[in-house]
Amino acid sequence: MAAAAASVARERPMVPLAVLLRREITSEKMERPDVLHGQASQSKKGEDFTLLETDCRRVPGDRDADATFSVFALFDGHNGSGAATYAKENLLDNVLSAIPSDLTREEWLAALPRALVAGFVKTDKEFQTKAHTSGTTVTFVIIDGWVVTVASVGDSRCILESAEGSVYYLSADHRLDSDEEEVERITVSGGEVGRLNIVGGTEIGPLRCWPGGLCLSRSIGDMDVGEFIVPVPHVKQVKLSNAGGRLIISSDGVWDALTSEVALNCSRGLPAYVAAHQIVKEAVQVKGLRDDTTCIVIDILPPEKITPAPPPKKAGIGVFKNMFRRKSSESSSHSDRDFIEPDVVEEIFEEGSALLGQRLNTAYPIRSLFKLFICAICQVELKPDEGISIHGILSVPRKQHPWDGPFLCTSCQEKREAMEGKRPSRGSSFRKSFGSE
Ligand SMILES: [Zn+2]
Repeated sequence: MAAAAASVARERPMVPLAVLLRREITSEKMERPDVLHGQASQSKKGEDFTLLETDCRRVPGDRDADATFSVFALFDGHNGSGAATYAKENLLDNVLSAIPSDLTREEWLAALPRALVAGFVKTDKEFQTKAHTSGTTVTFVIIDGWVVTVASVGDSRCILESAEGSVYYLSADHRLDSDEEEVERITVSGGEVGRLNIVGGTEIGPLRCWPGGLCLSRSIGDMDVGEFIVPVPHVKQVKLSNAGGRLIISSDGVWDALTSEVALNCSRGLPAYVAAHQIVKEAVQVKGLRDDTTCIVIDILPPEKITPAPPPKKAGIGVFKNMFRRKSSESSSHSDRDFIEPDVVEEIFEEGSALLGQRLNTAYPIRSLFKLFICAICQVELKPDEGISIHGILSVPRKQHPWDGPFLCTSCQEKREAMEGKRPSRGSSFRKSFGSE
């Protein structure tokens, strides 16, 4: 997006102040969108689960319509459904409990990326005490007004087609086959990555992590593979223009059969629930029912506009805005947004690093929203001197300073070290279960 922003700035020289003022006026008068959704699924193994919550409250009990948000999530389980159902039942609460109370809407949105990281890791850590095997992808979408925040581990992709006709990838593909950086991270952390050998030494199939044979580099669960299969999500936050757009979240059963263009084109103009059924039907027609195939379609529409959504102005021309060119270690900020016209999808935040030190260390002023002497992951209260600095500052017998934070409790620090390969994964076995995910 940085490149796109630069080119927009070059093509459309604007007075920044005027742009900012115009945006301020429009945003004040901008009504909240209608959010319509539908889902469809064809089951082969019964390991896909969804969560559709359309009336969540930022402040519990607040009946103000402006205080509501929606959550749509897809969990594609493997090696059993335990991790998928556990995440479906607990992840939202764990994310919300990591958001400080008494925030304004803007602060709440700014706090979300760090809270999502904390909630994902907490859920994985808790699941570890319940079950050893099974894992799940998670694609977790929060819609608050025109702001869409997507946190993802695994390969259940979420795409956005804006009303202007551009397509954006909002999730990451944590597949070993498509991510050298992740292969490197796992290898350094003690994992073994390779293809499934057949007799004669010819290597076949996708890259897998051993033991276990998992094709994904991140998930919730998968303790039997190793804790270097981390639950730290890629997080992306965008703001749609008040023309809206359509989101499609699908498990790999869809994306292995259909490209984004085909999925969008085959369902264009249909109401969300019909569109979801159409996409699943197309996918199964192409590849047969070889895997659980699930699709959620969400239309974010100007208020009271009746479905079906109008076809985008540039329907089907396949304008792809790949927002993943940036190195995963760099995070974006508001700095280069001032020149973008307000009628397009604006990128607010993106960060994909697997390292907790990077993900929990939010910049000022967001940092000041979070309570200091609370474990940044599990939210347990810490006595002074009890917390472990995320920056690796040793807890030698001296007083901890606020600027040493954020802090982790001992248990979450152990989890962090296991994820980074600095201690053996708990109970890792060397069982090879071929054919999982
Ligand atoms: Zn903790």
